Amino acid sequence: MKSLCHTKGYADGRYVLPPLPYDVSELSPLVSAETMILHHDKHHAAYVAGANKAADELDAICRASEKFELAADATHRLAFNLGGHVLHSLYWYNMSPFAGGSPAGVLRDKIEESFGSVHSFRHLFAAIAGGLPGSGWAVMGVDPLSKKLTIAELSRHQDGVVAGFIPLVACDVWEHAYYLTWKNDRKGYVERFVEHINWGFVEKLYLTVL
Ligand code: MN
Repeated sequence: MKSLCHTKGYADGRYVLPPLPYDVSELSPLVSAETMILHHDKHHAAYVAGANKAADELDAICRASEKFELAADATHRLAFNLGGHVLHSLYWYNMSPFAGGSPAGVLRDKIEESFGSVHSFRHLFAAIAGGLPGSGWAVMGVDPLSKKLTIAELSRHQDGVVAGFIPLVACDVWEHAYYLTWKNDRKGYVERFVEHINWGFVEKLYLTVL
């Protein structure tokens, strides 16, 4: 996907774990160093491995032209693991160690057109991320038809978006993303998250998909 070219999640024909763009402790207390290490080095790495494995299995089925009965299961696992890889790659880069920034330029104009104001966007995003049942993601992105910005609520990593939706800001609300620090205070975590959005990165991403 063109919009994710900044996230370094694919190289030489393989899905790869992108490096963190900051030191592991720099986002504390939003994301503690302990959570950052486990989340990036274990959880995200497992999704990368799972995506490569499922893709390899599908490739092998095609090359051998047999065992097509295994393709549906591999496709389910590819959607889950690649969905996780794509969203985590975005998540690391759409957070900034510096809180309090605001969107600018054409992105700010689009947010105001789509949500009324940056203030409304922040509250809407936090409310959707805070209210998501179970494990999943809140993702702000581009509606493929209206081209307006919308906020999607994804269950797991892949359920809940329309085809063609282009993600720009992703907030992980699986418990592994916040529980070591925030315990059951997911509301506190997501309200802190919206203060740490890396708007400069998001604006660059948005400009690539206009
Ligand atoms: Mn996660």
